[in-house]
Amino acid sequence: MSRYTISLIRGDGIGPEQTAAAKKILETISDKSSTKFTINEVDAGDAALAKHGKALPEFSVDTIKKSQACLKGPVGESAADVIIVLRRMFDLYANVRPAKSYPNIPSLSGKVDMVTVRENTEDVYLGWEFNADENTVVALRVTSERASRRIAEYAFKVATIRNAKRRVVAVHKANVMRKGDGLFAATCRDVAKKYPKIQYSELYVDAASMNLIRNPEEFDVIVTTNLFGDILSDEAAQVVGGLGMGPAANIGEGFALFEPVHGAAFDITGKNAANPSSILLSAKMMLEWLSDKHNDKNAILEGSRIEDAIVSLLKQDKKTKDIGGKLSTTEFTELVAKSMY
Ligand code: ATP
Repeated sequence: MSRYTISLIRGDGIGPEQTAAAKKILETISDKSSTKFTINEVDAGDAALAKHGKALPEFSVDTIKKSQACLKGPVGESAADVIIVLRRMFDLYANVRPAKSYPNIPSLSGKVDMVTVRENTEDVYLGWEFNADENTVVALRVTSERASRRIAEYAFKVATIRNAKRRVVAVHKANVMRKGDGLFAATCRDVAKKYPKIQYSELYVDAASMNLIRNPEEFDVIVTTNLFGDILSDEAAQVVGGLGMGPAANIGEGFALFEPVHGAAFDITGKNAANPSSILLSAKMMLEWLSDKHNDKNAILEGSRIEDAIVSLLKQDKKTKDIGGKLSTTEFTELVAKSMY
């Protein structure tokens, strides 16, 4: 038997509805298998700011630090004070965002299986913005060789493990941002030399965003900088049918945090209409990571049950409203739980 302590950030908007779904599925795994979870719920985000005066209170950070992994619902207006702080605090340098075609989902292409590996610690997301004068703002875009190298290494490892098309494309804009993106591209090229079995290429970000619409099936692993990765992964999620199916992992050396790609979706909050798949597939990624880190073969199997259950429901056309179905968040979650064992 293995037991994992998970911190669960409820978040804002549809966050509480989604994290309730994730909790139900983790409790189902605990009940039915030898993989057990202790789930500690954590306050962070707009609700925490209103209640405690801080979007990320210290006691929440303490609970997260005591856990082995964190699962997070989307956060609203205070997202930058929560997720960007946590990414930096735990040095979660790799943001991994798969985009995959699932059955019976209206989408641009039914044959996509790709992942965006986004550098998570630098770029304009450092938030270093200054007033040059009262009408002009300067934002610093930071790129280091160290961060570029470790994200490139991570992307090539992902391409090796996935064993799919064995392709890495580095996405940048080095023809304009010659120094910063020049450094990122040169570093990716250098890392590529160590992986002769992986086909390496480069695309400018404008061409990449066009090709994601034109030939999404061609992509395997995209490695890119922080802002470009944020935008391209939302685009990739839409290509396969929308943000409701998009999971993400923020990976560091010793800790990892898992969350949906999307935001708080205030337009559908409280309507029991959110697709929980994005957070359930994030939980699946969490189980893969825990399995790898703790050399626990069972955890990965329990994780694959989540995805298998979702796929089998989609094949029967049982789905939530965002992807053309009729089921509510709680109805879909119940069916996932029932289909897993
Ligand atoms: P952010 O800027 O914080 O990423 P956003 O305002 O761009 O967020 P999202 O909250 O990500 O937007 O939502 C974009 C659209 O996708 C909304 O119309 C929302 O209803 C829809 N959406 C997002 N997540 C889901 C989900 N899990 N289920 C159903 N619809 C969703």
